[in-house]
Amino acid sequence: MKNIGEFGLIDRISTHFTAPAGVTGIGDDCAVIPQKSGLDTLISTDLLVEGRHFLLEDVSPRDLGWKSAAENISDIAAMGGRPESAFLSIALPGSLDAGWMDGFIEGFASLCKRYGVQLLGGDTSLSPDRLFINITVTGSCPHGSAKLRRTACPGDIICVTGTLGDSACGLQLILERRGAAKRPCATQPLPEKDAEYLIERHYRPIPRVEEGIRLSSNPAVHAMMDVSDGIASDLRHILDASRCGAAVNLPELPLSESLQRFCLSRGTDPYSPAVEGGEDYELLFTIKPGADAGVPCTPVGTITEGKGGIEWLGGSKKDYKGFTHF
Ligand code: ADP
Ligand code: MG
Repeated sequence: MKNIGEFGLIDRISTHFTAPAGVTGIGDDCAVIPQKSGLDTLISTDLLVEGRHFLLEDVSPRDLGWKSAAENISDIAAMGGRPESAFLSIALPGSLDAGWMDGFIEGFASLCKRYGVQLLGGDTSLSPDRLFINITVTGSCPHGSAKLRRTACPGDIICVTGTLGDSACGLQLILERRGAAKRPCATQPLPEKDAEYLIERHYRPIPRVEEGIRLSSNPAVHAMMDVSDGIASDLRHILDASRCGAAVNLPELPLSESLQRFCLSRGTDPYSPAVEGGEDYELLFTIKPGADAGVPCTPVGTITEGKGGIEWLGGSKKDYKGFTHF
């Protein structure tokens, strides 16, 4: 599997199936299934593996519950849908007790309640060693209004909501504090409130549900997805699906003051966490030039005629890579 990568593997799986006419299947943030009611059903599923997606010794059960729900609800937000229900399958190692599960489900439920999402089922098993969590979330949107990855047009402006890279810096801080990551020579101390903010952004992401719904009703918005793996990786999915290229202006990236102080304190490039760091769960979308997005957002670049490549402008590095499995 190492030689074909995560997306090569998904391509191989997808060759055995064809989505029925009118259905969006493998390849976007959610499947989109039209219903007779005039709504489309959105469905997304994600697998979280201990040691891969989270470190059990570092994360509180409440934060893990919150984050697991947020990641999945974010995929519904990425299409512009309203999340409705969830299914939770969990394989628990014997080392975790009922108190741990109480904390996990409290965190999970508190994020779900914000959006009126009800847990409707799942499965529970003992795991020989690690914790595995699989969550499926469903949602809906008016028929035909889901924003896909394949509909970007050359000339579109690329925009993002919120700020990028905070979650990656939060993770770096968590690893440094555990002694698992080396802290580069500090040039300036980092105020504790910045550390708290960045760690909160890592453990308690807020999916952009209301922004997604507003963007989905805006005809000038062409393509959309959520930022789970860093825009260096995620923007490529829009480009591959839409058969376009992009130019991104690094100095225009929305960076929080905490991220800027964090990178200054470590003497590192602030653009790297912003484009390569994952788990921000902001929305990345393309919009007709001159149009009003109707939500707070920052323009960061342009869609071009090129084939799949990203030109990084205004920085010293010419290439950035986001996160992929394998
Ligand atoms: P996201 O990061 O938005 O959750 P992924 O990168 O995990 O999306 O997946 C990309 C697409 O590939 C999605 O449409 C997803 O449903 C599909 N996919 C991923 N793994 C599999 C699999 N094992 N079988 C079928 N489809 C898959
Ligand atoms: Mg996604």
